[in-house]
Amino acid sequence: MEGEIWMLHRVAEERSEPKEQRELEVTPQWLESEINAYKQKGYRFVSLDDLPRRGPWVVVTFDDGYHDNYTLAYPLLKRLGVPFTIYVTTALIDNQMEAWWYPGQALGMSRDELRTLAAEPLCTLGAHTVSHPQLDTLSREQQLAEIEQSKRQLEEMIGRPVKHFSFPHGAHNSDTLDICNELKINTTVKSWGGPLRRGEWPDPLPRIDKQQP
Ligand SMILES: [Zn+2]
Repeated sequence: MEGEIWMLHRVAEERSEPKEQRELEVTPQWLESEINAYKQKGYRFVSLDDLPRRGPWVVVTFDDGYHDNYTLAYPLLKRLGVPFTIYVTTALIDNQMEAWWYPGQALGMSRDELRTLAAEPLCTLGAHTVSHPQLDTLSREQQLAEIEQSKRQLEEMIGRPVKHFSFPHGAHNSDTLDICNELKINTTVKSWGGPLRRGEWPDPLPRIDKQQP
């Protein structure tokens, strides 16, 4: 095993009751113990912008752009010196759209929080569409609109180029990959696939769904 890209979503002091929500949530205590266990095994925690040639290494990523990534994950990872990536669904910023898998809750990060993270050297920001659709069910034109607009909106919000993209639900097809190439996106990730082996750099990159038991 050479490298692992962890996929996380929310960080919460108390996890939700419904299983489909709980699966998206880890406590700060559990995340810290998991990071420390990997450090003890010799893993280095590295940035997506700076993937090393040799492992073992871990990249920590969060999908969607939740407010708790700012309030709970960010201080923890800063204290531990762990780089991290957040893939932002742009309509969740300032809760323009509700995350329908958490009905009635306003969980999105604010624009100010996003700007603070953009200035944080440990943090990399990537795009994750505008409205979180299942991309492989859309036409090429609709996919282009979702991917291009989210990249541009995020670039406008943070004032720097966006070079990374995560497929909502991991869903993608050949059009998705073509569009990301055309838009000069450096790396794409899916939601499954396990660890990376030495010398292997597939597109999209596999991730490990990091679930707290
Ligand atoms: Zn997502």
